[in-house]
Amino acid sequence: MKLLIVEDESKIGDYLRQGLSEAGFTVDLARNGLDGHHLAMTEEFDLLILDVMLPDIDGWKILKSLRESGKHVPVLFLTARDSVDDRVKGLELGADDYLVKPFAFSELLARVRTLLRRGTAPTNETKLTVADLELDLMGRRVTRAGKHIQLTAKEFALLELLVRRQGEVLPRSLIASQVWDMNFDSDTNVIDVAIRRLRAKIDENFEPKLIHTRRGMGYMLDNPDAG
Ligand code: CA
Repeated sequence: MKLLIVEDESKIGDYLRQGLSEAGFTVDLARNGLDGHHLAMTEEFDLLILDVMLPDIDGWKILKSLRESGKHVPVLFLTARDSVDDRVKGLELGADDYLVKPFAFSELLARVRTLLRRGTAPTNETKLTVADLELDLMGRRVTRAGKHIQLTAKEFALLELLVRRQGEVLPRSLIASQVWDMNFDSDTNVIDVAIRRLRAKIDENFEPKLIHTRRGMGYMLDNPDAG
């Protein structure tokens, strides 16, 4: 998998390139917008990590130009400004996801992996399954071992996130940003409580256990019987 990072801050660029290389990706780094734009237009990448604030052509213009020329490469954009306008603008221009600086590398890696997986997944999926757990995305229904399980909307969203990113440890901050609103106070134990309730419903009376706690890191859904 080949990634392009467009980032003018050399410390961040080097850090991302090293981390993603160590994670097994082939990584190109462009240190300004013009080079990044040129590379993105002329070479094939599986994913772009695009900084918004660049001194020459900004990330928005690069993204717009790519989409206008029919390039559908997934784009994760990095923004220093946590404003709703920025996020909306990016998503409207055709970005696939965004991260607000500063972010944890583990979070970036999780987003990158999800976007890469999404790129190859069928778009008309209506069902997610792990072991004998089944999520019906259209009917918003969950069954385990054929038994219907009643979940609240938040519990369903939480479970869907965990299932979609199975095998990845999800930090509370990421869960907060995806399932609750962005201003969620992650010092509260709302997420832990929600996980506990979800566990009681989908894991307590079933085997194998699917939801796992990674101390000090977050939560992960994983089927221990698989592979
Ligand atoms: Ca920048």
